[in-house]
Amino acid sequence: MAFTASKGTFDVIPGLDRDFGSEQWRRVVDLLTQPARLAAYGYIETPIFEDTALFHRGVGESTDVVSKEMFTFTDRGERSLTLRPEMTASVVRAVNEHSLHRGQLPVKLWYAGAMFRAERPQAGRYRQFTQVGIEALGVDDAALDAEVIALGVRAFAAVGLPHVQLLLNSMGDANCRPAYTELLRSYLRDNLPSPNAETLRRLELNPLRILDDKRADMADVIAGAPILADSLCDECRAYDAAVRGHLDDLEIAYVDAPRLVRGLDYYRRTTFEFQHGLLGAQNAVGGGGRYDGLSESIGGDPLPGIGWAFGVERILLALKAEAVAIDVAPRCEVYVVPLGAAAKKAAVRYVDALRGLGIAADMAYGDRGLKGAMKGADRSGARLALILGDRDLAAGEAPLKNLTTGEQSPVSLDDAAAHIAAALHDLS
Ligand code: AMP
Repeated sequence: MAFTASKGTFDVIPGLDRDFGSEQWRRVVDLLTQPARLAAYGYIETPIFEDTALFHRGVGESTDVVSKEMFTFTDRGERSLTLRPEMTASVVRAVNEHSLHRGQLPVKLWYAGAMFRAERPQAGRYRQFTQVGIEALGVDDAALDAEVIALGVRAFAAVGLPHVQLLLNSMGDANCRPAYTELLRSYLRDNLPSPNAETLRRLELNPLRILDDKRADMADVIAGAPILADSLCDECRAYDAAVRGHLDDLEIAYVDAPRLVRGLDYYRRTTFEFQHGLLGAQNAVGGGGRYDGLSESIGGDPLPGIGWAFGVERILLALKAEAVAIDVAPRCEVYVVPLGAAAKKAAVRYVDALRGLGIAADMAYGDRGLKGAMKGADRSGARLALILGDRDLAAGEAPLKNLTTGEQSPVSLDDAAAHIAAALHDLS
């Protein structure tokens, strides 16, 4: 039996007819991260696997990600390692490891890469998926929160995705959240219909997670739950107002989402999510927030931070649902069809010369004959095809066919690449 990609994973291969054509996929990653690059964020790559304890401490035991979804394995030295389920813990580890926070603050970083979660696969939910994200560390400043959110808004604008809604909330901090957590816990204890073991576990570990429960029979209980906004301390309230003030100045629209909680334990104060209306259940295209306690919880220096992570595949699905085209450079602009041994030798030189001029070029290999080779020309997506016979070589010129109109005109083979480049230029 032939092998197929593992459950919940997929290949990213060329082709516009797929959900994730590889050129579009790369271009979307590029576009989403462009705004951050214009805001002085530097690129970071971290290893795909880390010490399992990093995620236990950095993401949190009460999260589904840690309790149910990690790909964990033991290496030959009996160390427990885990394929990263998200990047923030890794980035904060790296910042501490390299003392980046002893230099210019905030430390601003962006990333793009594969994440791994053993979830039940469905549309928009995979076991290996791609996140792009940014993190800004070392400074506690509402203006920075606004910058991070604004770069997210700009990222969606850069890919041309309308109808993305920004939901905003404050999760409070170590000062005011414990009292709210207690209030919520006692409300849930009194009001939960018939909690299962999982809900009871959450109730003890982190009752805020229950607000995230999407099951229908939970909706009423959640709707009636006390909200954090009513319990915020003065500092958190002022911080939240300052963030909103900056967003208003930037004319960024947001929806107040008092029950928005993030699945990961370390979030503090500013918390947000970007949702897209056409994606059904998996409507979160990105999310983020402030995570001031994370660095210390993984043994690092006290280091406030804020960031977001976007799901590239979900964004591609949203682009498809909105019929937004992602323009990518053509894979082939000029196709050379050699008919004969001498012509083939010349064709090899011509395509190389065209590529040297920065023009995407390809040729027919395998001595297919005119008909087969012209089929190849059509499939290549090229705009021009040079049809080159041995006799043309002797004559010093060969027909150049416009594959869109079917028109043919002779082109000089004396410095053929330059002449073809000029013909291509005339087309645009
Ligand atoms: P999170 O790290 O859970 O806050 O997720 C950030 C973003 O990553 C989400 O808004 C999704 O767009 C995306 N994402 C999370 N989990 C998955 C998954 N299993 N498959 C595809 N995308 C995901």
